[in-house]
Amino acid sequence: MARRVAVITGANKGIGLAIVKGLCKAGYSGDVLLTARNEKLGLEAVEQVKAEGFKNVLYHRLDICDQGSCSELKKFLEKNYGGLDVLVNNAGIAFKVDATEPFGEQAEVTMRTNFWGTLWVCHALYPLLRPNARVVNVSSFVSKRSLDKCSPELQAKFRSTEISEEELCLLMGEFVAAAQSGEHEAQGWPNSAYGTTKIGVTVLSRIQARVLNETRPSDGIILNACCPGWVRTDMAGPKALKSPEEGAETPVYLALLPEGVKEPHGQIVWDKTVQEW
Ligand code: NDP
Repeated sequence: MARRVAVITGANKGIGLAIVKGLCKAGYSGDVLLTARNEKLGLEAVEQVKAEGFKNVLYHRLDICDQGSCSELKKFLEKNYGGLDVLVNNAGIAFKVDATEPFGEQAEVTMRTNFWGTLWVCHALYPLLRPNARVVNVSSFVSKRSLDKCSPELQAKFRSTEISEEELCLLMGEFVAAAQSGEHEAQGWPNSAYGTTKIGVTVLSRIQARVLNETRPSDGIILNACCPGWVRTDMAGPKALKSPEEGAETPVYLALLPEGVKEPHGQIVWDKTVQEW
């Protein structure tokens, strides 16, 4: 039988690194691929995990904003494992609250990583998902807060159980265009670039779970979005409430849901609890 493998994106630090360690501590019975866009930082992180006694951790480069990099990883997985068992889409960015870049630029840059980058990883790697695979898309509670600030029309679209990936992509593009022309609030969008990109990640997860139900109904693949909570990392700063290890708990729980479970699936989960969308 082919060796099992888990892929974590943006895992050189923060919550991603804690997810790698969390999977190892839980005794993940396969290789854990710690991916990062910066090779030096990725290799250093692998050494750190190995120094804690976990030998089944390997580095592979992945810049989620580079489709060539996504397909390199796909080829590596195909050649060495013949499939994929766990995917945690963790990589993400956020501008600081005091950032001076114009809002339109912040929207475009944040969307490129958090939404488009995540989507490109999914497009490259989903064909490799083996039966009983687990996919975790790291979104945020900010996605729900931002959804509640959208116009009723946008809220209805984002809560629809029929919205397609193409429609979602168009909406994410419309947000960036509106942000660049300064009209996003007039058009019913929230005033948060990060929050809107994470609406994209949560809705994408709902769509992907639905598509899996339709296309691979007997394969037992479970896919969810999650929020790690407010976590002390470079992104959120030292005042946040949770340690990276605590932030990793929900993503690790979802990544290791045992074979045969049917739920949660297509949900947004935090503190290991399904949240209303
Ligand atoms: P960090 O800033 O500590 O880590 C982000 C990670 O993502 C880094 O490894 C970074 O790599 C990587 N990354 C960014 N862009 C890319 C890219 N193009 N390709 C590959 N990797 C990339 O943030 P956190 O650990 O806090 O965040 C992890 C996830 O959790 C994010 O999706 C975030 O939105 C989400 N989240 C975090 C919360 C918090 O309170 N911290 C709350 C809710 C959600 P590099 O070091 O090279 O920049």
